[in-house]
Amino acid sequence: MKDFKYDPDDLIAALATPWAESALAVIRTTGPDCISAAARIFSPSDKLDQAAGNSIVYGYISDGEVKLDEVTAAVYRAPRSYTGQESVEFFVHGSLPGIRKILELLFRSGFREASPGEFTFRAFLNQKMDLTRAEAVQEIISAKSNQAQSLALNRLSGSIENSINTIKSEVTDLLASVEIQLDYPEDEAEMPDVEAGETKPIVGKIDRLLSTYRAGKIYQEGVRVVLAGKTNAGKSSLFNLFLKEDRSIVSDIHGTTRDYLESWISIGGIPVRLFDTAGLREADHPIEAEGIRRSNEIIDNAHVILYVADAQEGITADLEAFMSAYKEDSRCLYVWNKIDKAATAAPDGFIKVSALTAEGFAELEEAIKTVVFRDHYVPGNEPVIDSMRQKKLLEEAREALNRYSQALLDGMPMDMAAVELTDALNALGEITGEVTSADVLERMFSNFCVGK
Ligand code: GDP
Repeated sequence: MKDFKYDPDDLIAALATPWAESALAVIRTTGPDCISAAARIFSPSDKLDQAAGNSIVYGYISDGEVKLDEVTAAVYRAPRSYTGQESVEFFVHGSLPGIRKILELLFRSGFREASPGEFTFRAFLNQKMDLTRAEAVQEIISAKSNQAQSLALNRLSGSIENSINTIKSEVTDLLASVEIQLDYPEDEAEMPDVEAGETKPIVGKIDRLLSTYRAGKIYQEGVRVVLAGKTNAGKSSLFNLFLKEDRSIVSDIHGTTRDYLESWISIGGIPVRLFDTAGLREADHPIEAEGIRRSNEIIDNAHVILYVADAQEGITADLEAFMSAYKEDSRCLYVWNKIDKAATAAPDGFIKVSALTAEGFAELEEAIKTVVFRDHYVPGNEPVIDSMRQKKLLEEAREALNRYSQALLDGMPMDMAAVELTDALNALGEITGEVTSADVLERMFSNFCVGK
């Protein structure tokens, strides 16, 4: 592999925990002879220098005679560490001036500041993990819901790598059988039947993996559910009810703009981004018109639209206009709100609720889940791909396999068609990182956090 921008044999150090006052902070270091280098700023120095792998040493970070902090150090000897190199993790007190002094001392003592993702990059270079696992590391850190986190954990355990390796070995078998035919064309008895159709089961497997991509996206980006309807229909009240009933709110983004609110909630384990739009009324005022334009944009991009109607008002012109505009749109659910107040019969198919008393709320959640499960693939236990990079490469592999089949059907000589199989293998190899170029690697890891 070509030279990397950052030398993988440098000693590196970084704060692995947030730059904020806290009870403890973790400073991570790694590199060849990292333990001896770290021991030079540690007392008792020998104790750290001679520590066994996977052990904890208690002592002080010392700048010459001056003690900077009382710490514990976790010692990892190569290759049994995250990076595959010697590593020391210091658990220090979480004071910002204290952390700064320790980092400065490390940088004066032969360590340089780690670039983003550099620890994981070394883990990859030292074959501690393939690229799909390295990507899963970052996906775990940025997961927005329990499900997203556990899907990423599944990838970290190598589920994607295993699937890719299975597909790869099938392509390799196919290529091998082509080569046998090329080498022994006359020996028909020995000749395995290589037909264009033989790529079908392989392409099927790739398709299956690709079909999980959207589900992965849904877990990462959330299902977008939007509350629409006239002013005073009870959208804000319902929005608040969702927030109150959901105990697993991940984050709460209030007032992103004046015209809508957004919040992450979880419905039946699915992460949901709930939007409350500005009222959908006709506007003369330009600012309000802009708000409505944006509301409409949110509605257009939603996975589920909850149109909230006020039962006290009954069927209004707005409701009728909306229903006729969205007649064919299966994303819409109609909510008949304020049933605690109004005894009016709900139109067919409307979900009766009271945002005030929460009556009907469970049914509403159930209806949302039904739409999500009907329209979007929600994964079970199989690996789910979550990376655009992996998706593109899988598509490349699929195209190459299809080109191979087509070439044989077109009567192209087998040795020429076989080039496509090699292309497919290359694309698959790039997914796990066997044949990935240095630029791509550097770009990938630069999206990581520093210290990971
Ligand atoms: P929005 O303009 O659609 O966001 O409507 P709001 O949520 O602000 O509600 C408008 C008014 O209706 C407020 O006074 C709410 O307290 C009231 N409201 C909302 N939902 C209900 C409900 O289910 N029952 C009753 N009785 N009042 C409600």
